[in-house]
Amino acid sequence: MQTRSKDVNAQIPATEKATQETLVSMHRWTDKLLTFRTTRPAEYRFTAGQFARLGLQVNGEMIWRAYSITSAEAENELEYYAIVVPDGLFTTALNVLKPGDPVWVEKLSYGFMTPDRFGGGDDFWMLATGTGLGPYLSILQQPEVWRQFRNLVLVHCVRHEDELTYQDKFQALREEAAAQNLPGRLQLIPMTTRDDAAAHPERLHGRITSALRDGSLERKAGLDINAEASRLMVCGNPDMITEVREILRERGLGPCRRAGGGQFITEDYW
Ligand SMILES: Cc1cc2nc3c(=O)[nH]c(=O)nc-3n(C[C@H](O)[C@H](O)[C@H](O)COP(=O)(O)OP(=O)(O)OC[C@H]3O[C@@H](n4cnc5c(N)ncnc54)[C@H](O)[C@@H]3O)c2cc1C
Repeated sequence: MQTRSKDVNAQIPATEKATQETLVSMHRWTDKLLTFRTTRPAEYRFTAGQFARLGLQVNGEMIWRAYSITSAEAENELEYYAIVVPDGLFTTALNVLKPGDPVWVEKLSYGFMTPDRFGGGDDFWMLATGTGLGPYLSILQQPEVWRQFRNLVLVHCVRHEDELTYQDKFQALREEAAAQNLPGRLQLIPMTTRDDAAAHPERLHGRITSALRDGSLERKAGLDINAEASRLMVCGNPDMITEVREILRERGLGPCRRAGGGQFITEDYW
């Protein structure tokens, strides 16, 4: 099962298919990474792992882009995690928004990155590059996933350490799950591609694809990736996703299908 960016942006919603919401807050992790929250319409529904299409008015025209919802299903506000793309039409406008400014949220939410699509499996691997972390933030705030899997492995690969965001949030979720006696155990595996490896010898360096091919990712997690035990989601950079799909297929894993079966689900961000 795969979500591709070209499918998502093929149909641009009209404003009547969306509600006008208000920007509530904007947190800046770095000069390029933002977490922003909007008001939520009372009747709005989504499943953790899905994405919304958001609209902004840019030079008098509505521009729509897909964003993974990072908030929990029951929260009163909606949260998103975004990178400001150089010269990006939408994100240049997003970057200068102030609390109180309007943001349109399409009434429907979309996407296949929901753990209920998996059958069986003990280990849930969540692989992300950059802001591809988004769906997992929402998923890990739902107690169901901590009951569904014994091992939850979150792999977040970024260029530099300052892009390893939300670490405290994941730590807090891990403590909360333990306090509630939920059976799942969360492992965080941060990876950087451009930092000095000697400064953090305990951390994996390089790309997710290399760490999968040479076995270092599985050694780090202490778990094998195989069709029986493993269920995977892969989100973010489309080149990474294409290569991960190849690696997983070589190992006998296949994509989840609507009819059932399969071990992995992917979502390309562009
Ligand atoms: C299903 C889906 C969910 C998405 N969820 C998120 C999300 O939660 N957070 C998010 O930041 N983006 C997400 N995106 C990407 C987002 O929709 C926009 O493409 C992005 O905000 C850039 O829009 P723009 O108009 O500023 O740039 P554009 O002018 O549209 O530039 C697009 C170019 O920017 C680069 N790019 C786009 N998105 C990213 C990214 N996330 N990281 C690195 N480079 C990127 C690519 O080179 C791409 O070709 C998602 C896309 C899809 C299809």
